Formats: sequence, structure tokens, C-alpha cells
Amino acid sequence: MIQVTVECPHCRSSLMDSGRHIDRKESIKVKIEFAEKQGFLWLSSLYGSYAIESEHDIPLGTLTRFFCPHCGAELRSTRTCEECQAPMVAMNFSEGGVVQICSRRGCKKHLIEFEDLESELRAFYSRYSPF
Ligand SMILES: [Zn+2]
Ligand SMILES: [Zn+2]
Repeated sequence: MIQVTVECPHCRSSLMDSGRHIDRKESIKVKIEFAEKQGFLWLSSLYGSYAIESEHDIPLGTLTRFFCPHCGAELRSTRTCEECQAPMVAMNFSEGGVVQICSRRGCKKHLIEFEDLESELRAFYSRYSPF
């Protein structure tokens, strides 16, 4: 699996947390809010891994709002999930491009968008190729 590094689309701060590891890699740290609860959530930085750690248990099916821990802006996409119609969460790849994940706990829909597909993909693969 490939590891991604992401940053806030608003303030460009890195969302990587080297102090907390998931899947033995540094995790992605965001602030979340759901059902009047607030806390931190850590996501695996391995693309395709759904491992998370959360201060609060998030029941399956819950819609969660994601926020940047640095500037507090909501990491919200203009898209909605094709599977369940929930709003998507958007984070920028440090290399360019956007990863979007569904904000509903348990929905595994996610997608990656590149503005300039060809050059971004080349950069992506040259960085993430293990060889
Ligand atoms: Zn930010
Ligand atoms: Zn969904």
C-alpha cells in the first residue's frame, strides 16, 4: 500500500502527526464533530487502509464533520457521496491533487482527484513507487 501525506486545503498546514502511528506509519490528525461531541481523530496514512483511532466511539452510520486542527476550517468538499449522499471530506495531497472521503462512518467511498491528471499522476507514482 502507498502512504499519502495530506495538508489542509485552507491553511496548507500538514495534517500528518508523527507523534501517533497507525499501521506503523505517521497518522493523519483531524478534529471531528458529531452529535454535539468534539474530539480528535487519527486516520491511517496508508491509502486503502480504514484503520482509525478516535477519542470518541463513532457509531456506524454517523455523519461526522472534519476540521483542520491548525486553522479550524471545515474540510468539506462540494461533492456528496455517490453511495449514501453524505457530504464528502476533502484534504489536499502535498504533491497536488485532492483526496475525498465520505463523512459517514462505515461508508468506504473515497476518491482521488488530480487537477492535471497526467503530471500529477507521474509525480504521485515517482514518489510512491517502492522501486
Ligand atoms: Zn487549516
Ligand atoms: Zn458514503
